[in-house]
Amino acid sequence: MLLNGKTGIVFGVANKRSLAWAIAKRAAEHGAKIALTYQGERLKENAEELAATLDNPLLLPCDVAKDEDIATVFESVKEHFGALDFVVHGIGFALKEELQGDYVNTSREGHRIAQDISVYSLTAIAKHAAPLMEERGGSILTLTYLGGERVIPHYNVMGVAKAALDMSVRYLAADLGQRGIRVNALSAGPIKTLAAAGISGFNKILEHMRNNAPLRRNVTQDEVADAALFLLSDLSRGVTGELLHVDSGYHVVGM
Ligand code: NAD
Repeated sequence: MLLNGKTGIVFGVANKRSLAWAIAKRAAEHGAKIALTYQGERLKENAEELAATLDNPLLLPCDVAKDEDIATVFESVKEHFGALDFVVHGIGFALKEELQGDYVNTSREGHRIAQDISVYSLTAIAKHAAPLMEERGGSILTLTYLGGERVIPHYNVMGVAKAALDMSVRYLAADLGQRGIRVNALSAGPIKTLAAAGISGFNKILEHMRNNAPLRRNVTQDEVADAALFLLSDLSRGVTGELLHVDSGYHVVGM
């Protein structure tokens, strides 16, 4: 029970395959009280169904493109929980047309949207979370991908967004460390989810990793959730500004 007595909010649950859902479940299994957010009406039913399998979580809509949604979520969390111990940012988005073809053809609007939803949202969320975490310290975790460190075919504008997200983690860690708040990223290997389905040639990425990663296999949602549990819990109390790869070791391979 690594999160006994702790409260957390998990952003980014779309369906049962979502990495955010795997992490929320694991956190609840380890004793955490959870708030879940879903993007909007379209995902409400899914979110309600999943939430019903947890012990009475707080369930809130939040479109991170809207400042007022983020503010309302944290007002509700403050009212419900008082303080907050962890935040999981499991949100990423780019227009489907930007995730095929060449990066050089990225549109200005496609670039703006990817940065706004996938990167700025972490900063906006961290700003609201920090005052609720100050009393006993906290852990903020985002999900990133190797496409922010190396060129991965068709990941394009999302790779540029992940590079910015990785750097945001370091700046936020530096800002919030003195207040006892840690900020880390977990870099998951490719896993079939709704977001991944938008990336052209995703099956080839999975196959390449299976054939070339040191562990010679893909990773699962459960493996991501276990590593997230470490980063959310006091086991990682000395870790901040870190990017932890959960990718069968694929990031170390040159060829
Ligand atoms: P997913 O589709 O289940 O999750 C993406 C989430 O982002 C969804 O819940 C969606 O509703 C949410 N979202 C998008 N736009 C939003 C908005 N405007 N407001 C609020 N929420 C919004 O897919 P996933 O793979 O679980 O993705 C979660 C995170 O993990 C993403 O940042 C993704 O880049 C990252 N990641 C995924 C993989 C993978 O292979 N699946 C690998 C590494 C990192």
